Amino acid sequence: MKLIRFGNPGQEKPGLLLEDGRRIDVSDFGQDYDEAFFGGDGLERLATWAAANEATAPTVDESVRLGPPLARPSKIVCIGLNYADHAKESGAEIPKEPILFFKATSAIVGPNDPIVIPKNSVKTDWEVELAFVIGKKASHVSEERALEHVAGYVLHNDYSEREWQLERGGQWVKGKSCDTFAPIGPFIATTDEIPDPQDLKLWLKLNGELIQNSSTQQMIFGVRTLVSYVSQFMTLLPGDVITTGTPPGVGLGFKPPKFLKPGDVVELGVEGLGSSRQIAQAWK
Ligand code: ZN
Repeated sequence: MKLIRFGNPGQEKPGLLLEDGRRIDVSDFGQDYDEAFFGGDGLERLATWAAANEATAPTVDESVRLGPPLARPSKIVCIGLNYADHAKESGAEIPKEPILFFKATSAIVGPNDPIVIPKNSVKTDWEVELAFVIGKKASHVSEERALEHVAGYVLHNDYSEREWQLERGGQWVKGKSCDTFAPIGPFIATTDEIPDPQDLKLWLKLNGELIQNSSTQQMIFGVRTLVSYVSQFMTLLPGDVITTGTPPGVGLGFKPPKFLKPGDVVELGVEGLGSSRQIAQAWK
């Protein structure tokens, strides 16, 4: 299944993107895509409901805004420098253990909402990433059982303010958490649709020019390892998002560096997970 949410910001309703491309409203299923849904066998119940009701469910028009495909989770855990080439372009060492940092959940927006360049920002940058959603509470999970705790996969742009991340002291979270810095979607694909998360192409274009173009084969620590690893330090709750790091081609890596300015168009995608598009806007 492909889970979507649609409607105005803060008022999104749950839906599904069907195989034939039709978007349907599943409000009658009676539950939003939140912690209780993912943790309460929601995907199984929704599949049963959809089999009986998708033909007659209301269609959602193409013109309707897509929101993030899940309600605000308890946390977004980010993995840093998880592609060797990106570590190199950032002038960093290849990590021996996964680098973890948080991103505020208030940064989450729909996949095609504008990216707002924050007040006083001069180094707003992009990062196409494969993210995944936890489906089952995970604490001290083994690698063997790790993937049982994943509900699905989703496209994410881990926007980053490099000055605030790297030049202002303390933790990266300062440069990762601004409003609109986490466009998620268009949809969450359930795990049956993504048989191998370590074999997906991912790409990003800035104003039509392809500048990130890689594969999740290049990840240093794969999804299976990451679920197990993160669960040694905190309990992952159903609906939590883990975003797995970005390949080379971020603005920071260019000589001279490139950062977003109002009007820039950012388009990105992960194989099997659709694409998204954000237009940069000045803060006001
Ligand atoms: Zn990132």
